[in-house]
Amino acid sequence: MVQHKYVYFFGNGGSDGSASDRNLLGGKGAYLAEMANIHVPIPSGFTITTEVCTAYYDNNNQYPEGVKEQVKKSLKKLEEVNGTKFGDADDALLVSVRSGARISMPGMMDTVLNLGLNDITVEGLAKKSGNPRFAYDCYRRFITMFGDVVLDIDHADFEKILNAKKKELGVTLDTELDVNALKDLVSKYKIIVNKKANIDFPQDPMEQLWMAVNAVFDSWNNQRAITYRRINKIPDNWGTAVNVQTMVYGNMGNTSGTGVAFTRDPATGESRFFGEYLINAQGEDVVAGTRTPQPIETLKSTMPEVYGQLEVIYKKLELHFKDMQDIEFTIQEGKLYMLQSRTGKRTANAAINIAVDMVAEGLIDINTAVLRITPEQLDQLLHPMIDPSAKVKVIAKGLPASPGAAVGIVVFDAETAEQWVADGAKVILVRNETSPEDIGGMHVAEGILTVHGGMTSHAAVVARGMGKCCIAGCGQISINEEGQYFTINGYTVNKGDHITLNGSTGEVILGQVKLITSELSGKLDVVLEWADNIKKLKIRTNADTPNDAKIARKFGAEGIGLCRTEHMFFAEDRIEVVRQMILAGDEYARKQALIKLLPMQKKDFIGIFEAMDGYPVTIRLLDPPLHEFLPSREDAVAHLAQLKEADSSGSDKDNAGEIEVSEQLIKRIDSLHELNPMLGHRGCRLGITYPEIYAMQAEAIIEAACELAKRGKTVIPEIMIPLVGHRQELVVTKRNVMRVAELVMEKHNLKIKYQIGTMIELPRAALTADKIAKDAEFFSFGTNDLTQTTLGYSRDDAGKFLPFYIEHGILDVDPFVAIDQEGVGELMKIAVKKGRSTRPDLKIGICGEHGGESSSIEFAHRIGLDYVSCSPYRVPIARIAAAHAALKNK
Ligand code: ADP
Ligand code: MG
Ligand code: MG
Repeated sequence: MVQHKYVYFFGNGGSDGSASDRNLLGGKGAYLAEMANIHVPIPSGFTITTEVCTAYYDNNNQYPEGVKEQVKKSLKKLEEVNGTKFGDADDALLVSVRSGARISMPGMMDTVLNLGLNDITVEGLAKKSGNPRFAYDCYRRFITMFGDVVLDIDHADFEKILNAKKKELGVTLDTELDVNALKDLVSKYKIIVNKKANIDFPQDPMEQLWMAVNAVFDSWNNQRAITYRRINKIPDNWGTAVNVQTMVYGNMGNTSGTGVAFTRDPATGESRFFGEYLINAQGEDVVAGTRTPQPIETLKSTMPEVYGQLEVIYKKLELHFKDMQDIEFTIQEGKLYMLQSRTGKRTANAAINIAVDMVAEGLIDINTAVLRITPEQLDQLLHPMIDPSAKVKVIAKGLPASPGAAVGIVVFDAETAEQWVADGAKVILVRNETSPEDIGGMHVAEGILTVHGGMTSHAAVVARGMGKCCIAGCGQISINEEGQYFTINGYTVNKGDHITLNGSTGEVILGQVKLITSELSGKLDVVLEWADNIKKLKIRTNADTPNDAKIARKFGAEGIGLCRTEHMFFAEDRIEVVRQMILAGDEYARKQALIKLLPMQKKDFIGIFEAMDGYPVTIRLLDPPLHEFLPSREDAVAHLAQLKEADSSGSDKDNAGEIEVSEQLIKRIDSLHELNPMLGHRGCRLGITYPEIYAMQAEAIIEAACELAKRGKTVIPEIMIPLVGHRQELVVTKRNVMRVAELVMEKHNLKIKYQIGTMIELPRAALTADKIAKDAEFFSFGTNDLTQTTLGYSRDDAGKFLPFYIEHGILDVDPFVAIDQEGVGELMKIAVKKGRSTRPDLKIGICGEHGGESSSIEFAHRIGLDYVSCSPYRVPIARIAAAHAALKNK
């Protein structure tokens, strides 16, 4: 019987798998296999598949039949390839046991190096290498990693002993410890293991191997990996693979070392080799931030030959994988090995520059380039930067590890960061260095500042991936953990004090500085133009003022999808007139107030039409209930009390009139009071009971259009009636609007092309869309209200339970952020189908906040909408998202 294949061999003699086996072998395993296949030098090894991980979890941590046997066989093959033997006293095979999921989760899970060492093989290694110091350095590292990862002993327990030793010998670096010191560390470490884990440090390599493999599978479910998956939306059931790989040693002395590099600059995208290395170091020494690494350029002069090989290899890898690579390498006594290659994380700016450059270089096509710019990355670009005109007090400078700017109050640990952010604060996380345990705090922080570590440190890499501002290696500051403050050049900054970070320059600034959003770069325009040619959806904007409309045009908006007129009512010079209208006792008095509002509204519309310069503008007639324009009852009552007080105190000013007005106001507030305003007297219900309000608005719109038409401008007004649930509501309001429009056009002796349509924001409207479409020339889904009315959630009150729902997996996402496709989306599909059955050319769009969210945009594309409308700053994001939708749904 042919057994199911659970273990895949990789090595320069040829691998069982390749890059296309990512789901099965994990990213690391698949790329190791591929590197071997294209003759990039790597240490051989084998991968235990992700299927084994999944089965292991499904079967109460039991391995499927055949796994143990296949591992044994692969180990045998590894021994043959290397000419060494696992556990051999003179020449032992040593391996690393590395995790590797489908998507790289840097630093989230654990790796054990130098496995196979014990009291006997360490002596063999010392003899064979002629370097006992090196052998014992490997052994003490092995016990630390094994203790930490496999036996769950606190890393700090080992660290304490190490630091004590350094102090005792008066040295500061690990590399300064001699063989005797290291031997002493080993025996002390073994005592710690015995004390904390209640076992003797395992001496049998086979036992070590299985314990480590178990631990790697277990690490798939450690807290930081779970948090990382939640943040990055990685399914729990993907599982991790385990890679067992022959060790190579960067810690064999001064002709050895280890490093990490990017094939292009991950911060700017510039096409230059970018990286760091450490001489006489192993594994994560480079990213741990304990010793400051050297920039890769110096390798050119210190080891020109190795540098030359590295150059050939990195170019080969990029050419082969057709994307910027993040690589790990080790130099063992002048010989170069690659240990990892993966798609490199990068900032949004770098992503854009790299994508455009790679098209020019002929490496990728335009569709691929567009797909490489995610809407989330663009969102990052639109993040704030420091106002260049602001006066700032720079107190320190570190490495500009991840660009952008951030303002917040200082906290010194991830847990406090999470608590304070939950309480509504904006925080800057300040740490000596970050580790994967800090991931939750990093996620909520505005920015991150570390004392140690280089451009490839954990903090830097994770922050860049999150699109978060980060300054690393700011060695001038010193943190006092106990006192919860840091000091720099005579300044003391306490926990809770404000600082500002400039991640683009590395400057740490005292206090709060004003931030502004950055200009979009030239290459972004190239990508956006590509996107425009690919996308099918039009992107409109939600804009209520000429200024917003202008910004949106600059970002590429193709019209306004929602212009809310109530905002115009709130303007300072208007609210008094609006209140007069509301307080009016009869229709005549109401009309008097509306006559005053008319020219103001007309002026607004002229401004917006001009800014949109021939693109369509959808104007929604008044929607909110009238009480929103009145002061709160408490304020009104307090005001009345004041008036009465002044009256009784015998001031000579007679304010009887004012008192009467004030009393009237309170009465009106009471009469307009609603228990449930969201479902109350608003939208077209208001326009139907007070027709003169919609009439005035229609007049202002058509007047504005006529005036511009006379000046030779093209204007395309689309008048939108809100909250229609029954066709008859639309019939009545439409008649009112059209009557006014005809009168105005007659007066000017002009014909303006305008449309009347409706919002679809009630389930009944969606379900009767065929009837409503008889009178509507366009539909616009008001997805905010449609979500409220479909789910029966009031958005203003949902904060009490929605977070709980999401945390406990009752809902996957907040339906006010991403369209609930299964429920709300189903109603939308019905509305599209029924609406177009009546009117095949019915124009349909989305104008809720969902219009700027990528999964909702993809949904809009799939159900055949004509456009989405979003806030001005999200227009570029929506353009990219719409192009992605078109490419993914070909
Ligand atoms: P991560 O997934 O966190 O990047 P890795 O599995 O890549 O973890 O391993 C951690 C560190 O150990 C890396 O610096 C890697 O290069 C190094 N390493 C892993 N396997 C070996 C090996 N066989 N020989 C030498 N160094 C190794
Ligand atoms: Mg690791
Ligand atoms: Mg790695």
